[in-house]
Amino acid sequence: MSVGARQRLRVRVEGTVQGVGFRPFVYRLATELDLAGWVLNDSRGVLIEAEGESEALKTMLERLRTEAPPLAIVERVAEESVAATGQTSFAITESAEGGEAEAAVSPDMATCEDCLSELFDPGDRRHRYPFINCTNCGPRFTIVRGVPYDRPLTTMASFEMCELCRAEYEDPLDRRFHAQPNACPVCGPSLRLVDPAGRSVADATEAALEEAVLAIADGRIVAVKGVGGYHLACRADDEAVVAELRARKHREDKPFALMSPSAEAAMELVELDEAAEALLASRERPIVLAPRRTNAPVARSVAPRSRELGVMLPYSPLHHLLLADAGVVLVMTSANVSDEPIAYRDEDALERLAGIADLFLIGDRPIETRTDDSVVRVLSDRPLFLRRSRGYVPRELPLGTPRSILACGAELKNTFCLAKGERAWVGHHIGDLKNYETLRSFGEGIEHFASLFAVEPELVAHDLHPEYLSTKYALERDGVETVGVQHHHAHLAACLAEHREAGPALGAIFDGTGYGTDGTVWGGELLVGDRRDFRRGGWLFPVRMPGGERAIRQPWRMACAWLRETLGDQPPIPPTLADSVAEDDWAKVADLASSGLASPVTTSMGRLFDAVAALCGIRAEVNYEGQAAVELEAAADPAIAGAYPLPGGGRLDARETLTAILADLGAGVPVSEVAAKFHNAVAEATARACAELARAERIELAVLSGGVFQNRLLLERTAAALAGAGLRVLTPRLLPPNDGGIAFGQAAVAAASA
Ligand code: ZN
Ligand code: ZN
Ligand code: FE
Repeated sequence: MSVGARQRLRVRVEGTVQGVGFRPFVYRLATELDLAGWVLNDSRGVLIEAEGESEALKTMLERLRTEAPPLAIVERVAEESVAATGQTSFAITESAEGGEAEAAVSPDMATCEDCLSELFDPGDRRHRYPFINCTNCGPRFTIVRGVPYDRPLTTMASFEMCELCRAEYEDPLDRRFHAQPNACPVCGPSLRLVDPAGRSVADATEAALEEAVLAIADGRIVAVKGVGGYHLACRADDEAVVAELRARKHREDKPFALMSPSAEAAMELVELDEAAEALLASRERPIVLAPRRTNAPVARSVAPRSRELGVMLPYSPLHHLLLADAGVVLVMTSANVSDEPIAYRDEDALERLAGIADLFLIGDRPIETRTDDSVVRVLSDRPLFLRRSRGYVPRELPLGTPRSILACGAELKNTFCLAKGERAWVGHHIGDLKNYETLRSFGEGIEHFASLFAVEPELVAHDLHPEYLSTKYALERDGVETVGVQHHHAHLAACLAEHREAGPALGAIFDGTGYGTDGTVWGGELLVGDRRDFRRGGWLFPVRMPGGERAIRQPWRMACAWLRETLGDQPPIPPTLADSVAEDDWAKVADLASSGLASPVTTSMGRLFDAVAALCGIRAEVNYEGQAAVELEAAADPAIAGAYPLPGGGRLDARETLTAILADLGAGVPVSEVAAKFHNAVAEATARACAELARAERIELAVLSGGVFQNRLLLERTAAALAGAGLRVLTPRLLPPNDGGIAFGQAAVAAASA
């Protein structure tokens, strides 16, 4: 073969192509196709030069896309011809320094099958090693300090590889070639077990594991350092210890997540259809919420009053060892006290969790970025995110923007979003942005993402609420243009953008709270709009929130406000609330609602669900926002098809609905039926109002979003009714319908008006 017949191509591959075994894959491909040249990682992704027969080069280009390694996401392949050099071999060369850093970092991935079989193989040198990983699995986002993604810029930097590990790391044909967290018992991180005072209980990995498993079996609470933070682990079948955990965490009702040793064991806890089972076992390993089995072998305190349980499978080698040794289902709940962020640094964990955990199982690989478990339900065979974090972050989302954007999100379930060019990155779950701890985490997260993806924001988008810490943060940034985005418009735009739709669309956006353009509290909105603009096409009948924020904690106040609208001043206290609310408190709150003193007007659909839940006697008070609505959904019998009246086209007037509910409750109709007929009423009325607007506006696209649509029953019924009315329906798929999706929506609006 003469040099003249040969061609040489320079190929740039972009997407999630670093830390996923892409270079070895290119090496094998080139060797097989008899191509010479090199491949390297640089700040934009992977760069290849390959030289050989033109047919072989063509094949390589095709197979780069079709045969990429499982964790890789190839976004773009661009090639150009360069002069042939006559090179005869192919090599993987060192990462290029410098240049603008913007290579994609992969999310953290569950332990792969190959690593698992080594983990449990007594003959393997990593037998029972809790930090085993390879190019196809292991920590990524949580250990990255900077790009390019290479060991010195991860939290593994301080561990020097032993000879065997180094050989694997340097062998292009090895599964661990350039696996940055590569480690073994000789050279890598180890485990220790300490008491709350930090005194050693066991210093060696195997002893620490053994003692931890014994303690758990014995009914004690162990803080376990995981991939994105600490969990609190205990037996799920022991009521005494679960109740104790609840008391120590000051977490009165929120369900605890469970970790099950296997999918089979998970089947005994919850009902899983094929899609749910696939999601549970996916390499992202989210917590899957699914209907609990009647005889699920878990303590009552795991999830009191909930029809669902949140279950996940082990996703780190440490989890696999713990669960295999313990042989029982464990509670694995985020290690924090009530609303604080999850603990992830060792010192901090010991300090904050001293009163909660009896022991601490600590691995000495540091966590760079705190990342909570993701939480999903399954809707029409697809995930419906309640929280998108570990396993999914920082995967890119599609968003074209002429200028670089930072979007700061809202307050509850905050996330932020950075965008430039054709891509956007939504950050990890920050939590409720209400205190210094979360604010710091928010600010650090933004800086980290800005450097990982080389985004220098020119536009900074924020909520209209002047008191949100995210808004204040946005307005305090120097040298940028700020864009205020109405909360419900952001919900609408987020859903349009993730579906790559421009609009216009009708949006039924139902949530708890969002600052309206008129300064009132919105939350039951029918919007007509696209990514750039919107107008309000209708809304839920407005009522007072007696006592403001207190009405969120005390749904009975919303019941009182709605009854005042329905029955007039000083409505009688309904029998279902007589036991939980004092007569004169009720009278005072009714007065507040009448006078409007400290009682803002709201069109919130979330608050209507609260009111109905309170009326049904389900909840007079709640411990977290949305709890009453969750329990109302759980109470509803999905087999019941009837619906209450909920008249009004663009103005959904729920007063008649309340009257009918009172009558039914008075007549002894079971709550399961009342709750179902209420869900059906909202679904039907929403579809009817949207269909009317659609005809008037000549629009055929509808969007359902907002936190109220985490309610699967409501979302399914509303979507079905809208489809029945001939509309095409979009629901959030890649992001949560709740405020975790707001930042992406703000970015979409900012991009459209940039
Ligand atoms: Zn692996
Ligand atoms: Zn080693
Ligand atoms: Fe919202």
